Amino acid sequence: GAVDVLGVVERERVLVGWNDTAVSVSGGSVVEVFAGRVVEDPDAPAVIGEGFEVSYVELDARANRLARYLVAQGVGVESVVAVAMERGVDLVVALLAVWKAGAAYLPVDPGAPVERIAFMVRDSGAVMLLGLDDVVDGMPAGRVRVVALDDAHVAAAIAGQESSALGVRVGGEGLAWVVYTSGSTGVPKGVGVVHAGAVNLAAVQVARLGVGVGSRVLQFASVGFDAASWELLMALCSGAALVVAPAERLKPGAGLEGVVDAFAVTHVTLPPAVLGVLDAECDLSSVRVLVSAGEALDAELVAGWASGRMLVNAYGPTETTVCATMSGALMADGGVPSIGGPNPNARVFVLDDFLRPVAPGVVGELYVAGRGVARGYLGRLGLTAERFVACPFSRSGERMYRTGDRVAWDTAGELVFLGRSDDQVKVRGFRIEPGEVQAALLAHPEVVQAAVIAREDVPGDRRLVAYVVAPDAESDAGDLSVAVRGFVAGRLPEYMVPAVVVVLEALPLTINGKVDRKALPVPEHAGGGGRGPANRQEELLVAAFAEVLGVERVGVEESFFDLGGHSLLATRLVSRVRAVLGVELEMRALFETPTVAGLAARLASGGAARPALVAAVRRPGRVPVSFAQQRLWFLGQLEGATATYNAPIVLRLSGDLDVAALAAALRDVVERHEVLRTVLPAEDGRPYQRVLSVEELEARGWALHTATVTDHELPAALAQATSHTFDLTTDV
Ligand code: AMP
Ligand code: MG
Repeated sequence: GAVDVLGVVERERVLVGWNDTAVSVSGGSVVEVFAGRVVEDPDAPAVIGEGFEVSYVELDARANRLARYLVAQGVGVESVVAVAMERGVDLVVALLAVWKAGAAYLPVDPGAPVERIAFMVRDSGAVMLLGLDDVVDGMPAGRVRVVALDDAHVAAAIAGQESSALGVRVGGEGLAWVVYTSGSTGVPKGVGVVHAGAVNLAAVQVARLGVGVGSRVLQFASVGFDAASWELLMALCSGAALVVAPAERLKPGAGLEGVVDAFAVTHVTLPPAVLGVLDAECDLSSVRVLVSAGEALDAELVAGWASGRMLVNAYGPTETTVCATMSGALMADGGVPSIGGPNPNARVFVLDDFLRPVAPGVVGELYVAGRGVARGYLGRLGLTAERFVACPFSRSGERMYRTGDRVAWDTAGELVFLGRSDDQVKVRGFRIEPGEVQAALLAHPEVVQAAVIAREDVPGDRRLVAYVVAPDAESDAGDLSVAVRGFVAGRLPEYMVPAVVVVLEALPLTINGKVDRKALPVPEHAGGGGRGPANRQEELLVAAFAEVLGVERVGVEESFFDLGGHSLLATRLVSRVRAVLGVELEMRALFETPTVAGLAARLASGGAARPALVAAVRRPGRVPVSFAQQRLWFLGQLEGATATYNAPIVLRLSGDLDVAALAAALRDVVERHEVLRTVLPAEDGRPYQRVLSVEELEARGWALHTATVTDHELPAALAQATSHTFDLTTDV
């Protein structure tokens, strides 16, 4: 271990050369960058949604009023303000106002379990919880001030404020936001991100993603995640417009595509899991820049989405201000997509267990230093010290963040993502520590042991599966499984609730007594209870449910969501139903009646059938030739018939050949594809396409030709067959 295997040149390259990313970015806070945009282009649209458009000046004025109100309530520099609001323009105003007051926001999904919200508010030391009346009503207040923005008194007090800028100054080191992320010890941890990182991120977006005035950025990420801050910065710091829509209109495969089209969105950031379920027919044609982020992107998705636009793979943990590296524009046939090199003002190190750099091609752990490195975990000095460590390659006492991600440099200075070095998993783009889910399971009085893993038993559908041991359980296993799942659903956000809870007599152990994760069984679904399908439609629905959920049997009264269905699988089910039943099923219908019986009843009462596809029949009387046909025809005229463009293929088959079957198959193919039975006659020296029917062809003597030859004669026979010349004007 004492021998350094890197040469001087290579060492310099991986540590310094590939980290030469310094560019100058304005100091100060996001507020100043935004103020610059207001001065530059006051009337440009800042936030757009169904039926409204708010300009930069207008947004600025609204945020100033609210900020003045917040300051009057005691909010100031380094305060944390929890904001529990649904997506929309009011949320944008609130976040901006918190910044203008000098404070940091803590985004809270109003739909999260109340206990969890209470925990985050308490743990972050938030001084205030902002929301709308119907949401904040159910919130545990404790010692934090709860403010409902639509309360008549509050609204009047805000409206009475001046709309001019406040002049609160926050430097780059000031706290900008706090985002909670899953914690392996059972409690989530709040990552504190500073303005310097946010301002740098906005500059990176402008430089690398070409966002600016006239661009339209979709606000897709769920409130409560840093990806939503990424979208906010992308729009408001570049002069672009942020396109907002209610969550239920953003379901991939059932609304998202429509919102993108309706607002001519140009910039979209999506996790790969979402890209994978987008309707194959939609092409997001207005989207110029598509960013895939949050999880490993694969070559297949790149092939599907790279053409006609710039597709970028962005990588980064929350602890490095959303994004640390970014690929260039990915090409459809470029193999496994890389996550690129370090962003401007970021530096990345691929190190071994002794913090020594490894050579390109060698797997190491990724560490990130530079502007984006967060302040740390709020109020958790120990945890912070564990992950934010001293950077041995800096002379100024800088810190670097230990990501836990395994990567390798390629020879061009780009990083290839190779998985995790710990148990952390990503499910549908959400970061989850199985330990946190385990802790929630263990809190159930009947559970004495628990293990949680992410499994992908159905390809493309990774889901969380829990295994619990309950030796003294009074209830039967099925009831217990349902009860435990319900219990954790009340404590954890939706994306952390296991799709299935499997009750075991004991957890499988390795010889040294650790839980043997590989031996945890594929969840069996007893299911299929209740009455069976009553008609053909129910039968088809049962099959569709089973296929999409990857289970054997489904009872007609069982809920899709209790069986492990989630919103992305719902998208798949809808398209499956469309394919097998030929009817349009609305996503909403599935959420309202998530059982086979319920859906069958709804479909019976008039689902609009999709019209069957028919071939286009509009055609000019004389079909012109394509350029390729024209070229071949021209060469044929010039040189006479030649074998130059033949593409012969020789196959050796073994066994008895059924010549009649082969001939019939060939005839079917020729019948199916017009171009295979097209000849190019000419009139006035110009070729056109004449499509012959198979009958016409056969009348002209077309058939599969066979010949019987000896091994000895074979080479000559092949040479003759492959040099056959075609007269394009008469031969197909
Ligand atoms: P989060 O803090 O929720 O953004 O999760 C960060 C983690 O997600 C990283 O540490 C990676 O494990 C994973 N991740 C994020 N982006 C990518 C990407 N483009 N490719 C592969 N993994 C990614
Ligand atoms: Mg992220």
